[in-house]
Amino acid sequence: YNHVFGKGKWNDFDPVDSSFTFNALKVLEARYLLKNTESLRFTETPSMMFKRVARHLASVEGRYNNNTEVYEREFYKIMSELKFIPNSPTLMNAGTRNGVLSACYVIPVRDSLTTRNNDGIMDAVRAQALIQQQGGGTGFDFSELRPEGDIVGSTQGVASGPLSFMRLFDVTTEVIKQGGKRRGANMGVLHVWHPDIKRFIKAKTGELKDVFLQNFNISVGVYDSFMRAVENDGIFPLINPRKTWLKNTLDIDSKFYAVNLMRYSIEEEWVQEELIKELEKNDWSIPLHESKIITWEEALAIAENEKAIVNYVKARDLFKEMTDSAWEGGDPGVLFIDTINRKHPTWYLGKINATNPCGEEPLLEWENCNLGSINLTKYLVEENGKYKINWVALGNDVKIAIRFLDNVIDANRHPLSQITKANLKTRKIGLGVMGWAHLLAMMKIPYDSVEAIVLAYKLSEWIAYNAYLESIELAKEKGPFPEFKPDLYRPIWRDARKIEDLLSIANIEHGNIESIIKAFDTPEIDWNKLEEEYRKYGLRNATVTSIAPTGTISIIGGTSSSIEPLFALAFMRIVSVGTFIEIDKVFLKELEKLGLDTPNLISKIAETGSIQGMDEISEELKRVFKTAHDIDPIWHMLQQASWQVWVDAGTSKTINLRRDEPPETVYNIYLLAWKLGIKGITVYRDKSKSIQVLEKGIKK
Ligand code: UDP
Repeated sequence: YNHVFGKGKWNDFDPVDSSFTFNALKVLEARYLLKNTESLRFTETPSMMFKRVARHLASVEGRYNNNTEVYEREFYKIMSELKFIPNSPTLMNAGTRNGVLSACYVIPVRDSLTTRNNDGIMDAVRAQALIQQQGGGTGFDFSELRPEGDIVGSTQGVASGPLSFMRLFDVTTEVIKQGGKRRGANMGVLHVWHPDIKRFIKAKTGELKDVFLQNFNISVGVYDSFMRAVENDGIFPLINPRKTWLKNTLDIDSKFYAVNLMRYSIEEEWVQEELIKELEKNDWSIPLHESKIITWEEALAIAENEKAIVNYVKARDLFKEMTDSAWEGGDPGVLFIDTINRKHPTWYLGKINATNPCGEEPLLEWENCNLGSINLTKYLVEENGKYKINWVALGNDVKIAIRFLDNVIDANRHPLSQITKANLKTRKIGLGVMGWAHLLAMMKIPYDSVEAIVLAYKLSEWIAYNAYLESIELAKEKGPFPEFKPDLYRPIWRDARKIEDLLSIANIEHGNIESIIKAFDTPEIDWNKLEEEYRKYGLRNATVTSIAPTGTISIIGGTSSSIEPLFALAFMRIVSVGTFIEIDKVFLKELEKLGLDTPNLISKIAETGSIQGMDEISEELKRVFKTAHDIDPIWHMLQQASWQVWVDAGTSKTINLRRDEPPETVYNIYLLAWKLGIKGITVYRDKSKSIQVLEKGIKK
């Protein structure tokens, strides 16, 4: 740093700068710390970065109150103590010329090259480029695009279909990432009724594996009706989205009605009833074409009438093709469209058809969301050699984090006005967590235990509760989100699933859940009181929580990522000057305590990353320090489901599988995910891609 500032003296520096791990500094240096554009010398240290971010985010308070400095200090404090870290674009761009502070966007793709509303295919490519240039990730539903081989009216040519257009988006990311802030990421969704679905499912398998759509995660949008057909061995129609409105091209209303037939079919009766009531009131503030919701049966009848059903397939065969492909290379994942919409608090604004790249944010078209995560390990206090959770401190910091994230909305400058408009309507924010595996290890609770599932549930509930309390406070102070409608908004606390239900769906035996809860000293939560307050004052934010992968910010925070188990306890890294062993810090501490931190033993562990099967290691340590592949998939799923109950957006999680796991495991996992109420699922079988983000053993 002397070198950075020329005249600087080491002892002038903020102690915060010496609190980072080596890997954190490397990441910060590579992408986050600002540099002089000409000399390329750093112009800030990590603590200065947090100050820049805190100042910028606190500055918008000036629009509402005189407390800017107070909040600046609070924001700086939680970030510099590594208790809360906002998503990468906020760290990179706050207080700079770049205005994008959010990680997640969903962009519409209409079946036209360009449109007056800027939502055609090429318009979407443009939006994607502008967002990714500044570090945001983009999700798209390609289901409205007519299938391959279909006719194109204007040129009498043949349509190339969703997959070839997806190539265009993929190449755009490839090109943009050279000059952009970080590798761009995309989510491409195709709904299960689309005639090109089989091609989509196999888009990243066989010869295309590791070659095609490398900048995309792909997911199939499935419906309850499809999943039921899988269970009952029924058939499912493939429908041409263009043919459904071909006859009515001049009649705008019926055109949109038909286009949306499949997109807006939601089975829930209450949705139908509420929506009809709203439409009857005649004060519907959004265009008619976004408001049609019909039942699956109605949709099918219309599709049949319009001769839009191309084919029927056996649901089980299609499902098996999906899960076989996912087994082969990780794609496609699945999005449970009905679950997502049933749980969407502002469902009355339309139907969600896609998510951001890693799945933690199901969003309406043009919506975006800014994320940030709490480092759970910072809320452990040692008492008589045991770790306990400081619930009060956690609750307080959640509140500061929520204010921070709400300010991100005011400070954000999006590249397109539609995005700003959509964001200001609902003010969605997503507070998540990191350090879950570390917290469990420190508390000596195995990741694959009922205790861990119960604690996940209670932590998730406590975080949500405090997040809503703060969002209500902010509504009092600054006003509720403009589309807040107390009679329509569907808060997650009204029909939250019980832990016992999740465990019994997964066939896991358990003792008395209440006594496990008690042992954690969990604080009282009064949802009824919150309900009253919320009715009176509203909420500042339509959604408040979301579990992001925290791929980079967990490195900055020096802790385990998101809600994932540890991937490897130790591994070898080979660089030009020699071989180094990197070892998980919580695990190392435990080895030190036991006097097991010998070079020989550590090298041996680093060979596989796991301690299972090692005679030198006690059974207890083996239970507590299981890595992703040592853990049965069912526990990965239960963890995701348990956190999801109290999360109003989505939960990003990879169900990591051992290399020798058979394809049927994936089939069963996808089916179980639907039953557990998970919104989306991704699996990854070890070494099933040529380049793998997380490696065990030897890294070069
Ligand atoms: N993301 C992206 N490119 C990346 C990593 C992430 O666009 O290389 C976006 C994507 O929308 C993802 C979100 O950022 O879902 C959050 O990812 P993560 O929590 O890993 O990001 P971090 O804030 O740790 O960088």
